[in-house]
Amino acid sequence: MSTESLRIIWIYPDLMSTYGDRGNMLILARRAALRGIASECVEVQSDQAIPQDGDIYLLAGGEDGPQALAAERLIADGGLNRAAANGAVVFAVCAGYQLLGTSFYAKGAKCTGLGLLDMQSDRGETRAVGELAGPVDPVLGLPPLTGFENHGGRTHLGAAAKPLVTVRVGIGNDGTTEGAWAGKLLGTYAHGPALARNPALADLLVGWAVGSPLPPADDAWPDRLRAERLSAVGMR
Ligand code: GLN
Repeated sequence: MSTESLRIIWIYPDLMSTYGDRGNMLILARRAALRGIASECVEVQSDQAIPQDGDIYLLAGGEDGPQALAAERLIADGGLNRAAANGAVVFAVCAGYQLLGTSFYAKGAKCTGLGLLDMQSDRGETRAVGELAGPVDPVLGLPPLTGFENHGGRTHLGAAAKPLVTVRVGIGNDGTTEGAWAGKLLGTYAHGPALARNPALADLLVGWAVGSPLPPADDAWPDRLRAERLSAVGMR
């Protein structure tokens, strides 16, 4: 952690913030507070420079047009790539996830991504809309992912990006895997918001940022939400 409090940077809420993704920032701050870790949430609009002193950088979902604009601005700024190279945690959802790869499609045009994750996205024949769930890469030690997806893109991982989830319900990347991670970069198609529905994933990200795993918290309430969402898709 760079300072006494955890700095959570939400990138371009003016362009990318769909399906309650702002909740991811609130949940990170809440999960940190439960362990006595103070945090500061910083919203960086698309006409502002990406600060370099963040511990966790968040990217959210967005429509094709704003997504393409966000990628252009992030490439021109260069700050997110520098922060990631310096070891910051990056958590990205849907449009934000796609733009971490080398390329993606928006409004029929191929767009250059940030190249932070070894993957590229094209378009599927149908839009993927609905519940998304499945077991998470066992290396990460997390319970099953539960979320909601709504995207036209399909994502193909290269060797350096590990799949986050094996899909049981929904489409995710390609109907087989969902999301990707490498080092302290993690992306998913899950909205919901993802971290409200998967607080253990929020704890993983905060743990990466502070440099050690977090102690357990009382998860009785989030566990009820998770049980309800997972049973709705026959996973419990
Ligand atoms: N525009 C992208 C797609 O449709 C991402 C959508 C989203 O972020 N929900 O694939």
